[in-house]
Amino acid sequence: MTTDVLVVGAGPVGLLLAAELRLAGASPLVLEQSTAPSGERRARGVGPLAAEALQRRGLGPLLAAHHPRGDAERAADHGSEKHHFAWIHKIDPALQEEPGRRGVLIRQPDLEAILREYAAGLGVAVRNGHVVTALAQDEEGVTVTADTPGGIRRFRAPYAVGCDGGRSTVRKLAGFEFHGTPPTMIARHAEVDLEGAESLPPSGRTPAGTLFHTPGLVGTFDFDLGDAPADRTAPVTREEMQASLRRVSGTRVTVTRIGSALRVSDHARQVSTYRRGRVLLAGDAAHVHSPNGGQGLNLGLMDAANLGWKLAAEVRGEAPEGLLDSYTRERRPVGAAVLHNTRAQSALMRPGPHTDALRDIVSDLMDLPEVNRYFGRMMSGLATRYTFPYMPSDAHPLVGRHCPDLELAAVTPRASRTVRLSRLTPGGGTVLLAPAGSRVLADAAPWQDRLAIVEASRVDRDDLSAALIRPDGVVAWAAAPDLSPDGSALTAALGTWLGAPH
Ligand SMILES: Cc1cc2nc3c(=O)[nH]c(=O)nc-3n(C[C@H](O)[C@H](O)[C@H](O)COP(=O)(O)OP(=O)(O)OC[C@H]3O[C@@H](n4cnc5c(N)ncnc54)[C@H](O)[C@@H]3O)c2cc1C
Repeated sequence: MTTDVLVVGAGPVGLLLAAELRLAGASPLVLEQSTAPSGERRARGVGPLAAEALQRRGLGPLLAAHHPRGDAERAADHGSEKHHFAWIHKIDPALQEEPGRRGVLIRQPDLEAILREYAAGLGVAVRNGHVVTALAQDEEGVTVTADTPGGIRRFRAPYAVGCDGGRSTVRKLAGFEFHGTPPTMIARHAEVDLEGAESLPPSGRTPAGTLFHTPGLVGTFDFDLGDAPADRTAPVTREEMQASLRRVSGTRVTVTRIGSALRVSDHARQVSTYRRGRVLLAGDAAHVHSPNGGQGLNLGLMDAANLGWKLAAEVRGEAPEGLLDSYTRERRPVGAAVLHNTRAQSALMRPGPHTDALRDIVSDLMDLPEVNRYFGRMMSGLATRYTFPYMPSDAHPLVGRHCPDLELAAVTPRASRTVRLSRLTPGGGTVLLAPAGSRVLADAAPWQDRLAIVEASRVDRDDLSAALIRPDGVVAWAAAPDLSPDGSALTAALGTWLGAPH
């Protein structure tokens, strides 16, 4: 065994996973095929849950520094400050239940640079120029073969995780089933010089698709798949971009030069399980869907946050029964829900009078505040709620959800002060928040060697007095101030996530 976990792919998901593994006491090795960062501008930001996950690790200020530029770029491209569903820009941040929980707008290459530096600071080793070509697992571990600058090399570890993107080699080599729906449309986006740009209709829906253009940039959502190249990795040519632009705009505009260009489809597929034996998948390797609504990176980073501490406990030999399998149980439905909403968005973007009528109705419905919140919860990921085996039907509303960044009046080992929860979690670990001297602390005492106990006399939520928060920020148990805390639910939660007391 050369390491505890082989992570294939140093994209954002692989980097965060490796960092989370490291924080939780495992030793990962990341194998990345490219020799230098790609710089490809895909995601323009992450949603609130991933932003909070990164903030919990102390990366909030680094991300926030990029937000104003991202915000300006987004407003310029979308022509709206509001979020969209199927490019109906009506999701109003101010109307949401938790308006303070927002994403961060940061270009994907900038986020990756931050994660690379963060992971390196934790001692994560990344081997660039290592193309994984073969994988075999047995009862004790996984052997991964990579084509490296020094020739073919084999690496062995108890576990391997494929974070190698939508065309994942690990997924194929390990035999994961990957079912879903084929493409109905292709989105193309390119830097271009145009002749006849003045004839283009305004950005928006056209009789044949959806068109975007600003000086030097064009984009199409094209439901005519006729001239899509059989090789989906083939570069977008000038001719292909021009043909799509002409089709969607209904003009004879000419593309005289094409610069960097991207083609993505709305095929929506997901693996049937996120784990096969000692091989796991996270991020795009486990699920692909259209980029509408900017959800993929958020989803993948939250996979990494969910998996890191569980897999680390497994390799340390301290994981309670079923901990690693809770990864698929919790994350697969969240991925499925994203695939579902992206399919609905594709349906609402098809050209034609029937879709026009449906869009008008959906658009009117979005003016209703509760409907607006429904779309807001869905697109931000804030609707995510896991169910736990020990969870009563009347569990506190925060249980199973990712904890907001609470403000606490806390007594920590160093001081008594008002502090944000995220300031207490850069090192990972499970946190128990409870008032000093409370019964909760006595109930949790047998697990105290595996808990960061924060004695909080006050939190900025009237409905909360105590909470058990997993390393991924998920509330495993919580109590309201007016009820006597349910000690048996707390000990069940501690046993489920941390194992039996020593
Ligand atoms: C146009 C577009 C816009 C998007 N906008 C948003 C957005 O606004 N918000 C959002 O949340 N998401 C968005 N997404 C989705 C987001 O970009 C992806 O979900 C995200 O990149 C997934 O990260 P990942 O680490 O899983 O995979 P990737 O970023 O694809 O990283 C995979 C890594 O694995 C490496 N690799 C692959 N094969 C091998 C191999 N055999 N051996 C070794 N290494 C290998 C690759 O080189 C790469 O570094 C967008 C996507 C597109 C295409």
